[in-house]
Amino acid sequence: MRRRQFVSIPAVTLAAEPSPSPTSWPVFDQTEEDSLTKVLRSGKWGRGNGTAVADFEARYAALTGTPHCLAVANGTSALLVALGVLGIGPGDEVIVPPYTFIATVNAVLRFHALPVFADVDPASMQMDPKRVAEQITPRTRAIIMVHMAGAVGELGEVLAIAKKHNIPVIEDAAQAHLAEWDHKHVGGHGAIGCFSFQASKNLNGGEGGAVVTHDAALAAKAFAFHNNSRGRTQPGTEFHYEMSGANLRLTEFQGALLTAQMSRIEKQSKRRLANAQQLDQLLTRYDGLTPCTVGKACTRNAYHLYMLRYEAAKFGGRKRAEFLRHMSQQGLSLSAGYSPLQDEPFLKNSFESRGYQFAYGKGLYEKWRKKNDCPVNRQSSEEVVWVTQTQLLSGPDWIPRMERGLKAWRG
Ligand SMILES: *Cc1c(COP(=O)(O)O)cnc(C)c1O
Repeated sequence: MRRRQFVSIPAVTLAAEPSPSPTSWPVFDQTEEDSLTKVLRSGKWGRGNGTAVADFEARYAALTGTPHCLAVANGTSALLVALGVLGIGPGDEVIVPPYTFIATVNAVLRFHALPVFADVDPASMQMDPKRVAEQITPRTRAIIMVHMAGAVGELGEVLAIAKKHNIPVIEDAAQAHLAEWDHKHVGGHGAIGCFSFQASKNLNGGEGGAVVTHDAALAAKAFAFHNNSRGRTQPGTEFHYEMSGANLRLTEFQGALLTAQMSRIEKQSKRRLANAQQLDQLLTRYDGLTPCTVGKACTRNAYHLYMLRYEAAKFGGRKRAEFLRHMSQQGLSLSAGYSPLQDEPFLKNSFESRGYQFAYGKGLYEKWRKKNDCPVNRQSSEEVVWVTQTQLLSGPDWIPRMERGLKAWRG
């Protein structure tokens, strides 16, 4: 197994500062209370008559370095908008990784398009560009590159493959606020970038999401798609519609909350980075606990999750579940992470539904299965361990506690 390389991400050191550990989540103070009260008292609770959502969009566009940002109801909605404006529908294939949150795949299924899995690189758990290239067919209409855990995989290679075949890339950056590839923020490298502000994510609006793009025409379509077909310039009294859409709007309360939360993310992200880098160093002393690698040009890892591999053979055959139980008894709650999506029953059940049978004929699941086995994901995901972003916000006593827990496990 390759060791994590410390080349592209500069070391982060923090000024000494007392911080409770483990850190409580969410983090808020009077700033959030004042912002929410202001919206409440204004009586302008929807984006149609307020300014809080538009204000947040302007700030998030600046943060990501993309000219167009549209806030939407959640990360799933962001993916629906992206696929919707690209015209994805029945008969279209969309390449996705099998190691991601199910929302990435659900968004494709909502359009009755066919999710096609490109297996992961076992060292990074990110989509493997070689497998992406193999899965391209004349029906491939989009590639969704997920920045799993907040790290960036081999995005450059995926973009090059997509460009060669003239296929748009959607970045699923739901876990990757502030992550960078080649010194540029994620989200703007492909056609459209998607973010989530759901309560567990590194930027928390309770629920919420955003799409970002450099393409003004796609941005205009995205607005209409999320606003039940009504474009930005359409007067409220006109009821003429060019395209089908839905109501995927964010509320003013969430817009105001997100702007307040945004003022904290740089500092929080630095703390996660500093803790993660110390954990990297600590784990160099543990054969059998290997941090997942990042792509060659990942210049900043957002660390929504710190992913590592646990090799039972290096610990006398003791299983991952036992390791997690041991650590949890030490007050360090780690997680086993995602199950391999390609083996979950929702795919077979979807492909055997009336809509899929109508569009693709019978026997779709069996045919699909042969091309979508993803053995690397099945085996590797058995060994993955997650440290969540809230743990990574812990104070200076966290690394010593991890060290005590790990030492006790190794014996
Ligand atoms: C959370 C998440 C989503 C969905 O976001 P919601 O806001 O929960 O709808 C999509 N993709 C990935 C990779 C996620 O982690």
